[in-house]
Amino acid sequence: MSRGRAEIDRERCKGCTLCIGACPEKILAMSRDSFNRQGVPYAECFDESRCTACMSCAIICPDMAIRIIRLVTIGGE
Ligand code: SF4
Ligand code: SF4
Repeated sequence: MSRGRAEIDRERCKGCTLCIGACPEKILAMSRDSFNRQGVPYAECFDESRCTACMSCAIICPDMAIRIIRLVTIGGE
């Protein structure tokens, strides 16, 4: 299975929460006590080890705030 890491640009995030529902692994959540410079909570990945690099979050984000880094796994899995 592919592995990845979601890099979320908090300053581009407008807090719409679309990516939260789009992630099949349910590993994205809105920040609770932190806000970006626009004053809104932003999306965060709280368990990168479960990211499959499926791209769903990046595709649905209307602000192109998410970039997926695909990780290479040794062993060809
Ligand atoms: S790439 Fe897929 S699994 Fe990873 S955070 Fe985005 S929606 Fe979730
Ligand atoms: S879809 Fe984009 S703008 Fe909306 S909460 Fe997620 S990262 Fe932020």
